Amino acid sequence: MQPKHLLVTGGAGFIGSNFIRWVLEHDTGVRITNLDVLTYAGNLESLADVDERYGTNGDGRYRFLRGDIRDDQLVGRLLAEGWVPTGRSEWGAPVDGIVHFAAESHVDRSIMGPAQFVETNVNGTLTLIEHARGELAERPRDFRFVHVSTDEVYGSLGHNDPAFTETTPLAPNSPYSASKAGSDFLVRAYVETFGFPAIITRCSNNYGPFQFPEKLVPLMITRALENQPLPVYGDGQNVRDWLHVTDHAAAIWLVLTRGNLGEVYNIGGEAETSNLDLVRHLLRLVSKPESLIQFVTDRLGHDRRYAMDISKIRRELGWVPTYDLTEGLESTVEWYLEHRGWWERVLNEAYRAASAMYLLAS
Ligand code: NAD
Repeated sequence: MQPKHLLVTGGAGFIGSNFIRWVLEHDTGVRITNLDVLTYAGNLESLADVDERYGTNGDGRYRFLRGDIRDDQLVGRLLAEGWVPTGRSEWGAPVDGIVHFAAESHVDRSIMGPAQFVETNVNGTLTLIEHARGELAERPRDFRFVHVSTDEVYGSLGHNDPAFTETTPLAPNSPYSASKAGSDFLVRAYVETFGFPAIITRCSNNYGPFQFPEKLVPLMITRALENQPLPVYGDGQNVRDWLHVTDHAAAIWLVLTRGNLGEVYNIGGEAETSNLDLVRHLLRLVSKPESLIQFVTDRLGHDRRYAMDISKIRRELGWVPTYDLTEGLESTVEWYLEHRGWWERVLNEAYRAASAMYLLAS
């Protein structure tokens, strides 16, 4: 399937903005509407280059729409009419694909306030798929919905357990992962009940440019650069798999265009490491001492280990991660060194607006 008009939700966030850039740069011919409400995690500055090259003053294949995925009227109109707020008639082409990133995404925030996670992640997803289903019933067309889920829905592994496969039962442990599992299940139910043309992806921890500095990698880089203590939960032996966001973007495009409807695909970087080893590695890259590491009380319900078996996407779609972790972390550190203005502004604006500062990382 080659979509003509893609609706990307949450495209001003970390993964969404990288995905939009990747798709437009790879000459896929597609037009993209980015629907994002701009929470503290959404930042149009991350898309300034995209807007310049592909927005109304560029080749016109990209537009941004500020709005909430829970807004019935807006989502309904967008799907029914392609909606043309700018008067540019070519945007009238109906949406024929949705890649759904929009979410509350930080575990620590979900522990402090679970309700917003249910609102956005569960109710927001329901609004989207319900409107898409209604629209397809009225005006059937070749259409695809990609739901971006997470490895966290599988729960936690012991050190010697085999990696998660797509058939591992879901057992979420945090309000964040429970809300993601809720939306994951809703999408699955729409496939089974209504024949809704959806595909679910579950990915591991992403890292790379434009990630909000509350998440582990950018938090540690930015704090180290400022000689601030680096808070590490518990004994630091929690293990995560790390996926470069560019590899993730390529995988999602492949799933969207060539994936089998109704399927789930795990996406991972095949790069497991403990949080402590990762932090030590980052400190070496920025030439700062390990004495900056500060062990802090463990996160409630902290999952011990995630690991992804990615043999299905490799076998069926031929996707493999191209970054190894060492190379990926090096280029990420370089990016944060070269884009100090970006993260300093993000921190100032976001944290001025937010009532509290959440220091600890996902
Ligand atoms: P992010 O927090 O950086 O961005 C989320 C975006 O969604 C923001 O731009 C925000 O403004 C927008 N948004 C929030 N609520 C909205 C609403 N009601 N309507 C419209 N827009 C809204 O998140 P991310 O790290 O880019 O993650 C994207 C997706 O990938 C999420 O669904 C997340 O659960 C999933 N995921 C992320 C990771 C990771 O490592 N970052 C890992 C696994 C899965």
